[in-house]
Amino acid sequence: MSDKATDIAIIGGGFAGVVTAIHMIRAASKQSESSETPALSISIIESSEHIGRGIAYSTDNPDHIVNGLAQLFGVYPDQPAHLTEWLRAHAAEHGWTPPEGVEFENAFAPRWLYGTYIQDTLRHALRRAGARVRLETVKARAVDLNPQAQGYQVILQDGRRLQAARVVLALGLFRGRSNAVLSSANGDALVPERYIDNIWDTTSWQAARQDQDILIIGTSLTALDAALNAERAGFKGKFHALSRRGLLVQPRRQRTAWPDVLDPTQLPTTLRDLLRATGRARRAIKAAGADWQQLPPAIRPHLPALWANASHSDRQRFLRHLRPFWEISLHRAGPESAKKLSQLIDAKRFDHHAGRIRSLRATSNGRIAVEWQTRGQQQTQTLVVDRVANALGYEFDWSRIDDPLVRHLQERKLVQRHATGFGIDAVPQTGAVLSVQGVAQDDLYAVGHPLRGVIWESNAIGEQLLEAVNTAQAIVASLQTVETD
Ligand SMILES: Cc1cc2nc3c(=O)[nH]c(=O)nc-3n(C[C@H](O)[C@H](O)[C@H](O)COP(=O)(O)OP(=O)(O)OC[C@H]3O[C@@H](n4cnc5c(N)ncnc54)[C@H](O)[C@@H]3O)c2cc1C
Repeated sequence: MSDKATDIAIIGGGFAGVVTAIHMIRAASKQSESSETPALSISIIESSEHIGRGIAYSTDNPDHIVNGLAQLFGVYPDQPAHLTEWLRAHAAEHGWTPPEGVEFENAFAPRWLYGTYIQDTLRHALRRAGARVRLETVKARAVDLNPQAQGYQVILQDGRRLQAARVVLALGLFRGRSNAVLSSANGDALVPERYIDNIWDTTSWQAARQDQDILIIGTSLTALDAALNAERAGFKGKFHALSRRGLLVQPRRQRTAWPDVLDPTQLPTTLRDLLRATGRARRAIKAAGADWQQLPPAIRPHLPALWANASHSDRQRFLRHLRPFWEISLHRAGPESAKKLSQLIDAKRFDHHAGRIRSLRATSNGRIAVEWQTRGQQQTQTLVVDRVANALGYEFDWSRIDDPLVRHLQERKLVQRHATGFGIDAVPQTGAVLSVQGVAQDDLYAVGHPLRGVIWESNAIGEQLLEAVNTAQAIVASLQTVETD
């Protein structure tokens, strides 16, 4: 029996994969008005139950909100009100309205509702495209790509195979090797019932209701998600959050960019010059009594160019020394979730520390003694908790990701690890993946997290959306060139 064939296989049906599909449908609909043009066929291969959600938009906790205004997060850049209008029309039927006094465009929607918006937008795009596009969702895990004379054979875990002329890697996030961190800290005390490895699995929080103390490993947005899940389950005790630097997630305030921080016609080409420019702006902001949150939006639009022009050693310096500060400044919490965090802090139910876990030991009454060392100090201290939750980040280094597809792509030399160790090498403008010889492939693309080393901020909605548009247009154009040749 011959393999099923498709024009485009998108591996990974999270936000990045589905939004790429939406923009392919749009590009194909615009370009193939003639009924003689064969329909474009797209297959989205997704191993989880639902497409359009991924990790971020699967949570059903309404306190987990997207961290940007609805007016900024629509999926069509030329229709900025798209999400606002959708919310206005559909939010109530999904049981959500903005907080009192907040207009839809200024609201921060729950993340599950945002996932519903992505799914609904895909359905609409397909309906509009009619016979011009065929889309199939394949519920399976892709484990390998076998190069063919034209395109690839995509091998699925269940043994099925799919022929695709083009493949898009929209693989998203991979969990870090948290267990290694914990076992190196002698984590034998962590009997499964007392350890929450997946903080988005709401059932695992039920048992935490009676707890007095929970240690959250991590202090960023994921730590806040963990605390909000515990609260929703009825936990009334105290959170202790610990991370190496102790940088706590910040509330997001909507601010205009501080003017004239960077001149787009003369962007700094070294990290030192960039730090000088931002240092000047920081001092000016402070002197004016303004908000430091005006600084990130002044830098963010220039990041792709700054990153593209940076030397390898400057990128490494940024990763080693500045990354945690940049991330905590940029990836902030939406106002309602941030308010819940400050209420917990005010009620003395949440404290956070900078330090490292040295050991975990079961106490005689079944609790966990956490021995930890404050950053910069020798002596250790002990904290006794009822449960430990893993809110550590993700793994971006493809040599350390434990996934069959990621491994096989590298073994077959179809991709090469980016020199920074983050993701794989590709052409920033289109996402075309570079072979180990450094040649851009016109049949293999990547969007989103695999492009961290290439673009750096490839991990948030705004940036991923632009990547999805560019990749979708490049692929649809390349397929149409083949047809007319
Ligand atoms: C908890 C959380 C909250 C976030 N909130 C925000 C926010 O408010 N604002 C913002 O701008 N950004 C946010 N982000 C950033 C977020 O990463 C992006 O917005 C976006 O959701 C990422 O989408 P993705 O498709 O790249 O990755 P993912 O969401 O990880 O989706 C990838 C999908 O690919 C599938 N997959 C992977 N490999 C295979 C395979 N081999 N075969 C089949 N399927 C496969 C996975 O099952 C998964 O569904 C958040 C991230 C997280 C983790």
